[in-house]
Amino acid sequence: MRTVDVIIVGASLAAAAAAKRTVDAGLETVILERKELPRHKICSGILSPRGHRFLLENFGPLPSEALHEPTACRGVTFHFPSMVSLPMDFFGGTTPHLHRKYSDYWAIQQSGAEVHDQTSFAGLEDKGDHVLVHARKHGEPVEYRARQVIGADGPSSLVVRAVYPDYPKQIPWFFVGQKFHDIIECPLSPDYFHFWFHPGLGHYTWSHARDGRQIVGVGFKRGDNFAKKHANVVNYLGEKHGVRLHPHTDDEGCAENFGPSLINRYVFGRDNVLITGQAAGFLNMIGEGMSCALHSGAICGEAIVEARLRNRPMQDMYRRMIGSEVRRTSDQWNPLKIAFDRPHEADFPAALMALGWRDRAKVLRDMWRFVVLYKEFKWGRQIARAALQRPFLGGYPMQRWL
Ligand SMILES: Cc1cc2nc3c(=O)[nH]c(=O)nc-3n(C[C@H](O)[C@H](O)[C@H](O)COP(=O)(O)OP(=O)(O)OC[C@H]3O[C@@H](n4cnc5c(N)ncnc54)[C@H](O)[C@@H]3O)c2cc1C
Repeated sequence: MRTVDVIIVGASLAAAAAAKRTVDAGLETVILERKELPRHKICSGILSPRGHRFLLENFGPLPSEALHEPTACRGVTFHFPSMVSLPMDFFGGTTPHLHRKYSDYWAIQQSGAEVHDQTSFAGLEDKGDHVLVHARKHGEPVEYRARQVIGADGPSSLVVRAVYPDYPKQIPWFFVGQKFHDIIECPLSPDYFHFWFHPGLGHYTWSHARDGRQIVGVGFKRGDNFAKKHANVVNYLGEKHGVRLHPHTDDEGCAENFGPSLINRYVFGRDNVLITGQAAGFLNMIGEGMSCALHSGAICGEAIVEARLRNRPMQDMYRRMIGSEVRRTSDQWNPLKIAFDRPHEADFPAALMALGWRDRAKVLRDMWRFVVLYKEFKWGRQIARAALQRPFLGGYPMQRWL
């Protein structure tokens, strides 16, 4: 059995950031990844300016193989059923369009941690002064012993299930799927990520250019029919935006835990097991999850280093330190912050105010109709309560976190 200081489950961006902190502090760190590296990761790859700064500051300039074509993105364009379109540039210029297979591998290598790929986390036992980790490599059991374990294994986290077996039943699950099309004609600007606030299309509808093809994606409550939902979007793009595409050549999809960051219901772990990245529930507006994965991962690694140095309880340290990232993420969904502050990295209020009053009214009406689509999840009151508590507490209540 291998004995180390820290085991991190998942070799993605949250893991790379956490490992960078623990390795720099001299802790022996092993990352377990179920797939063979470099591995594919379903993602649009649009990195926010804050995520870009994190990568530059921590890992240096990105290598060229870590980028898709077009290599940069100017911002996001929101489209509405009333046919108003709202392009918004990112603050501070364009950001890289990441090829996750190579960007993640590069970040993991830059972290300096030892990586065991094709090794799937299967379970753990927290013994108080150490954690036993059960994994499988090529079907064979492998055991590790670590002082701390970090779950950075994404939305369907098995580490979360190991510490809170009931948690997956407590949140709604979504499916997001995308199909790749050769282009006949596409008037949508390849410089932007396009998003539709359209309740008739789905809970999350997007399109963007990648490596000469057009991606058309749709997200909806799990259980609905991907092929039908996707065909509906393709027809809509043809009729309303003049987008003409060949039948898709590839497709892919996955489950998403969209929701915890809206209602401040994060999962940070128990005792010696810490959860971070999207596994913990971090997801920004428009499903942007890389910047909060990187920042929460780094805080998680720092918390382990700090708690060991000061001989303080691990969870207590992590929960106090992670408050800043919770504010950053949950502010993006806070209606008071959206109305009176600038929680996003592109200026939605300014773009809205640049419209004539008729179009402004149409956009607000369309957004309201879109929000109503989410009514069944009963998030409205929880969002409102958290928004009202935010100015008094200076953050979001920790009592809601697991
Ligand atoms: C369709 C789609 C488009 C997206 N587009 C964007 C975008 O444009 N911009 C953006 O910022 N975000 C986007 N996101 C979100 C973003 O991809 C995630 O929020 C981000 O990757 C989360 O990072 P993470 O490090 O927390 O986990 P992940 O990136 O999910 O990585 C988890 C890792 O853990 C590994 N793993 C899982 N289970 C095990 C196990 N049992 N044992 C060992 N390893 C395991 C996985 O293989 C994976 O490598 C998109 C997501 C989807 C689905």
